Amino acid sequence: MSFSSLGLSAPLINAVQERAYSEPTPVQSAAIPAILAGRDVLASAQTGSGKTAAFCLPLLQTLTIKPRGARGETRAVQILILVPTRELATQVGETLRILGQHLPQPVKLAVLFGGISINPQMMHLRGGADIVIATPGRLLDLVSHNALQLSSVRSLVLDEADRLLELGFADELSRVLSMLPLQRQNLFFSATFSPQVDALATSMLHDPVQIAIATTAESAPDIVQRAIVVDARQRTQLLRHLISTEKWSRVLVFVATKYAADLISTKLRRADINAEAFHGEQSQGKRSQVLSDFKASRLKVVIATDVAARGIDVSQLPVVVNYDLPRSSDDYTHRIGRTGRAGESGLAISFICADSANEAHFRLIEQRHQLRVAREQIPGFEPAFEAAASTAGMAVAVSDPNGGIKGKRPSKKDKLRALAAKSE
Ligand code: AMP
Repeated sequence: MSFSSLGLSAPLINAVQERAYSEPTPVQSAAIPAILAGRDVLASAQTGSGKTAAFCLPLLQTLTIKPRGARGETRAVQILILVPTRELATQVGETLRILGQHLPQPVKLAVLFGGISINPQMMHLRGGADIVIATPGRLLDLVSHNALQLSSVRSLVLDEADRLLELGFADELSRVLSMLPLQRQNLFFSATFSPQVDALATSMLHDPVQIAIATTAESAPDIVQRAIVVDARQRTQLLRHLISTEKWSRVLVFVATKYAADLISTKLRRADINAEAFHGEQSQGKRSQVLSDFKASRLKVVIATDVAARGIDVSQLPVVVNYDLPRSSDDYTHRIGRTGRAGESGLAISFICADSANEAHFRLIEQRHQLRVAREQIPGFEPAFEAAASTAGMAVAVSDPNGGIKGKRPSKKDKLRALAAKSE
């Protein structure tokens, strides 16, 4: 299958060729004709599968841009793309800029997100915009400042739709939706859809073309998954050890909290490892700097919260480490999907803390993904706790039927007994 057989125009085909995309990915082959035909789309396809171009290319083609000369005329927003993070907004904007560069009329894009001054964004919106890519909060701010209005939006995209439909965004999203015309095209894209989100999405979409690109052996991202059992307090040392012995050129490390991201990156810098934190409490300037340094390989290690888990495309990122396990199996998919993108191979390592309920939690992730990852131990980092606890058979963890994890962790007394049993 070729891009031209999908009905795309010559300027877009040129742009695709310049990017050296030889043929459409499965999600592109399915979504591009449907979007060009004006249909609603609900698409789930794995991370790194070319979803962004799958909606950007046909939407660029459907734009109607008046030739220059219509001076002083305000451009009405025709396409609105909502994304959950600032970095994803920038990335989608960049893809649109590159793919739209040969169109006969220049496309005016507005990339809008919080964490930076609103004034330049208001200035940029003078005269309107053809396509707006935004995080919901800043979009609402700008609407309330009368900097733009959304009554002429023809196509709405929710990128990483399941995240946008989650509780944290639900209120902002429904306010944005109430400002849009009822007659419009709706395009929902994500790597993961929970059943609840699926139901909600289906109720919002009109007779959608449903695209679910099954993960087959050939199409599955080529990601080797490993799990290393280690004591919690040994993890930073182990990370340092792996960075040096496995000679990773770059690694993205996920942790559970902003505090941990700051702490671990500081410890690594003290050990002369080029590392930075990346989380939602940093200034936007800092976040952009860290990401661009990482993308350009000026930075070796980024310690991030889940704000970096979705959509971010760092090409040729060889390794992702789950220093703390993700909360859900969907988050696991998004995190490890930062490596092994666009046909490259990747490695995802999860630390399983022997002295916690991690083992049961990871088993649940494995069950949901129908996989089994061998547990490893690294010489010099063998978990003292596990050895002690398993000797006495005391570590008990059970999964609860509602999806959470209940851990029955041994008490201090239990641990002492176990140690005593071991030394006997
Ligand atoms: P995405 O899933 O949209 O984040 O895309 C992941 C990566 O795949 C990006 O680096 C894209 O530039 C790349 N990509 C998108 N479409 C194609 C294609 N048809 N052929 C090769 N690479 C592609």
